[in-house]
Amino acid sequence: MPLVLALLLTQAPASQATALAKARRWNELLVEFEAQRPSSLSKKDRATIAKAFTAACEATEGDDPSLAQATGERAVALEPTAAALACAGAAAVHNRQPAAAEELLRRGLTSFPKDGRFPLELARLFYMEQDDAQALALVARIGSKSPQFAEATELKAKLVRRGGMRADAAPAGDAAPRRGGGPALTGGGVTGLGYESSVDGEGRRVRQNAFFRFRYFSGQRDFGQRAEYEGQVQESLEEARRGARRVLGVSREGALDVILYSREEFSLHFGGTWAAMIAGFYGDNAIRMNDSATLSDKTQRTLVHEYVHAVVDELAGFQRGAVPIWLNEGLAEYVEHEYAGEDGPAPQYVDALASRAQAGKLPSLAAMRSGALIAQANPVLAYAYAHLAVRLMVQRSSVPAVLKFIEALGRGAPFEKTFEQIVGKELSAFDEELRQSLGKH
Ligand SMILES: [Zn+2]
Repeated sequence: MPLVLALLLTQAPASQATALAKARRWNELLVEFEAQRPSSLSKKDRATIAKAFTAACEATEGDDPSLAQATGERAVALEPTAAALACAGAAAVHNRQPAAAEELLRRGLTSFPKDGRFPLELARLFYMEQDDAQALALVARIGSKSPQFAEATELKAKLVRRGGMRADAAPAGDAAPRRGGGPALTGGGVTGLGYESSVDGEGRRVRQNAFFRFRYFSGQRDFGQRAEYEGQVQESLEEARRGARRVLGVSREGALDVILYSREEFSLHFGGTWAAMIAGFYGDNAIRMNDSATLSDKTQRTLVHEYVHAVVDELAGFQRGAVPIWLNEGLAEYVEHEYAGEDGPAPQYVDALASRAQAGKLPSLAAMRSGALIAQANPVLAYAYAHLAVRLMVQRSSVPAVLKFIEALGRGAPFEKTFEQIVGKELSAFDEELRQSLGKH
């Protein structure tokens, strides 16, 4: 028996663990203390042995991730420090054990919300699982002062690159990044689909997950008062996000504000006609929900449409006015109809547009650049026409190309020239083609 072991065996458990760690005898540490019940140890001994296991995890993470995970999990069982949770979680990511990894890392994220290791490792896990939206949302939580910022930036670049490649490679309509195989990840936490409650700067209750941040317009009302409605709104918006992503291939990267209005508040702010008509709309960087409306298939479609506006706004860097109205509304209509499984506007609208085209009474797209379509003489037809324009644009290029166009406009690219690059013809010639396509209808 080597001298060091002989010495160790005569020592108290905690100092024995420390000595084994110092000698880097990780396997022996594991064998010796694996079966030790935390309850049989004093608080101090638990902490000391946990520290030895954490050191073991950190030392072996690079070349023996399964030993690292075993020792890290042991450390967590004894004392769930940030270091223990981070190391065990990272090892589980390397071992491709997503369920174990997510559980450890979410626990770390909840207990140590300022520690950048947890969002970074969770983001790596989601990257591995091909859930880029979640990965990006997590990476965004790591601030520039965090020691993990450089790694987070690197991962973000990888995600953006992959997003671009995927968007280029995928056919329109089937471009959504979908989570790959492997065990399903468990929910919970602000980073995923699960909701967490908190209080905002003005003392209002906020409920949020990675994609949405809910609050009531009136600070007097609270979550839980209309739990069923809140649950329905959450479900409908998640469905809207998934639906839009299936068509566009992307969804909002930043969490989207959702403001819940009572019917009185809604009609006070947006007028009684709207309050009686619509379930919600996107405006001023938030989805505004009218909580007197019942949610139906029809309102679900509307929410998909409104969610697209939120995506367009973000893509364009919130440069309101950079994206022509016909493009913004047309894309929202296009996605809404694709979501509903419809190829284009309803036939009666196409017929009406065709007869107007023959009579030379259709506005040019240039004339539909600004001003709400709803203010046009026949808003329904204006929407249908914008829809047809975007559909033709997608046929001439692709959905990802249209999204890139919007991004370019947000960065200040000249409209006409960029349009020509994407579509292959000038806007006026495209206008003509659009009118002619109606004639052939
Ligand atoms: Zn719209």
